[in-house]
Amino acid sequence: MTVTELLQNLVRRPSINPMGRTDIPSDLAHESRVTAYLEGQLKSLGVECHRQPVAAGRDNLIAFYRTDSPITYLWEAHQDTVPVDGMTVEPFAAVLRDGKLFGRGACDVKAGIACMLAAFARLVREKPVGSANVILAFTVDEEHTFLGVQELMKANLTADFAVVAEPTLLNVVTTHKGVVRWQLETGGRACHSSRPDEGVSAVYRMAKVVAAVEEYAEKLRTSRSHPRLGSPTLSVGMIAGGVSPNTVPDQCVIQLDRRLLPGEDAQAAIDDLSAFLAARDFGFSIATKRHFACPALSPTADDHPHLQRFAKAIGPHEKLAVPYGTDASSISPTIPAVVFGPGDIAQAHTKDEWVELAQVERAADILFRFAAFP
Ligand SMILES: [Zn+2]
Repeated sequence: MTVTELLQNLVRRPSINPMGRTDIPSDLAHESRVTAYLEGQLKSLGVECHRQPVAAGRDNLIAFYRTDSPITYLWEAHQDTVPVDGMTVEPFAAVLRDGKLFGRGACDVKAGIACMLAAFARLVREKPVGSANVILAFTVDEEHTFLGVQELMKANLTADFAVVAEPTLLNVVTTHKGVVRWQLETGGRACHSSRPDEGVSAVYRMAKVVAAVEEYAEKLRTSRSHPRLGSPTLSVGMIAGGVSPNTVPDQCVIQLDRRLLPGEDAQAAIDDLSAFLAARDFGFSIATKRHFACPALSPTADDHPHLQRFAKAIGPHEKLAVPYGTDASSISPTIPAVVFGPGDIAQAHTKDEWVELAQVERAADILFRFAAFP
């Protein structure tokens, strides 16, 4: 099977991450169809392959190509995609046109899965003398809360170097920001809106909080800067409060997204804003609820021996620092990790998501040569 056929078969199997929503039909939601397909492919190669349960009906897959080399590489890609709302191309038809494949996940990151699996299969078939061991891991839930990769790292895998698939236009991401998301909630006292003075508006309270958060975010932006990643950022992404126009609201919630630099602690970031708000003496309490955090990807030095080997297998490319998060940061505390793959992040999550097939083929060849001739 060609890498393009593999990619078509993956795009035709929906694996939408509901990301907390309840309106995604069950025949489109979660990764099980992709997991079953990949498991079939790996079993037909005759390699050791097992499932690692992460959540109900959601399993990571881990497969092993074993040699007598002292070197082991971990290749990781996520099985899930974002939802398909508003797409202008058929999301699961995997249409080929002008050297591109269109569909949800084509770029992010089923192209990455296809090239890793194709390179892995070629290693198994050809068994090049001196080739490195490869652990292939396909995880769940990257697009929402990184549950899959966190479970994967509990399996105590050991490897010398990890490549995490994300669209990088065949460049190498050696560092990226992390993220922590949490919510702040104000309370009040509800009453009929014809007598608003008898109640306390949680929305008015939150308005003061939001104005202070904006001030804090501006300060944060100028407080410090990483030479490659720039400054940390904070954004209020959602606000919700009240039940009807004729009721003074007794609850208001905002959702915050704080991007972390390498070395920044997620809880410390939350606590720092809380202390800033406490110093304002608003005279009401603000409840905090943390949702999830993913650390920044600590940079891999350009002269790391396995990164140098990988760079040689790629040929001309750039080393990048990016603001978005990936599975790599959960791997890098244990195994040095970089991000690499075909396609452009600009096409990820878009209404006409596509990937250039020539890049997918090149990526498969690069990964094969990286492991075959370490
Ligand atoms: Zn992705």
